[in-house]
Amino acid sequence: MHIAKILDSQKISFSFEFFPPKDLGGAERLFRTIRDLIPLKPSYVSVTYGAGGSTRELTHDLVLRIREETSLTVVSHLTCVGSNQAEILEILRRYHDRGIRNIMALRGDPPAGQACFETCPGGFAHASELVAFIKHNFPDFGIGVAGYPEGHPETPNRLKEMDFLKEKVDAGADYICTQLFFDNRDFYDFRERCILAHIHVPVIAGIMPITSLKGMKRMAELAACTRFPARLLKAVYRAQDDRHVENVGIHWATEQVRDLIDNDIQGIHFYTLNQSSATLKIYDALGVTDSLQLSR
Ligand SMILES: Cc1cc2nc3c(=O)[nH]c(=O)nc-3n(C[C@H](O)[C@H](O)[C@H](O)COP(=O)(O)OP(=O)(O)OC[C@H]3O[C@@H](n4cnc5c(N)ncnc54)[C@H](O)[C@@H]3O)c2cc1C
Repeated sequence: MHIAKILDSQKISFSFEFFPPKDLGGAERLFRTIRDLIPLKPSYVSVTYGAGGSTRELTHDLVLRIREETSLTVVSHLTCVGSNQAEILEILRRYHDRGIRNIMALRGDPPAGQACFETCPGGFAHASELVAFIKHNFPDFGIGVAGYPEGHPETPNRLKEMDFLKEKVDAGADYICTQLFFDNRDFYDFRERCILAHIHVPVIAGIMPITSLKGMKRMAELAACTRFPARLLKAVYRAQDDRHVENVGIHWATEQVRDLIDNDIQGIHFYTLNQSSATLKIYDALGVTDSLQLSR
């Protein structure tokens, strides 16, 4: 089912993101995670496309395996990095032939060691071009795009960034999923700026709980504009060890989710990092056993 339809039919969507493991052992561990999370009744799950286009086949195989072995609706991420139009067309055709109908369309980050994004010859410079290409060639794909409540590191003009986001929506995106953030005020402000820019598709909030100090530092590298509020940092630094850091991170994320639910959120997307424990603990702390209870 298209994500747009799910968003239409559910008061709030709850979705989980996974990345493709590099080896068989990782894949088996991920499927255990997925099985642990299925009782939470997610609206859909998504599979990332490795930085630099490094996981093209792994993403494809994982998306199909989830579709074949579970009843979950699955979204495949796709980036413009390292692929020309003919190659992207081929990837889309393979998905289409196997019944996949949801794509998260991204420009992508440069491969490791490369400072800036370079357009692949015969490829796309911006995600909006990829969205238009998908819509033109496969009008029946549902399409999501990325949004950045705290801005994107390459955006030189904070007024124009909403125009660029609107370009993606006007090209055919059905919904926006945001980068992770730790202060809901940044998300609410972003949502208002979307309305001011005449962007009226659903905006899904990306939530990633901190589970260790190392993980927090990695998050800061990957989501470069993310602000870590002082109150959160004080609690993290006060924690004695990673077990307690995780408690702090889960408590913080739980409060974020609770507040979002109380403020007319249309969807919440958990960046799971292929682990079930944090997401399960958040649902538990919210006092529910599945997403349906959360969206009442
Ligand atoms: C929910 C989510 C999921 C993600 N999943 C993945 C993934 O699976 N794999 C992966 O590699 N990365 C992923 N990313 C990261 C993403 O690829 C990077 O943030 C990337 O740098 C930008 O991608 P984009 O689709 O937002 O690009 P774009 O929307 O093209 O924006 C990129 C930059 O260009 C600017 N821009 C856009 N249009 C124009 C224009 N017309 N003229 C001038 N400037 C313009 C934007 O303001 C921005 O600074 C994800 C991000 C999010 C939020």
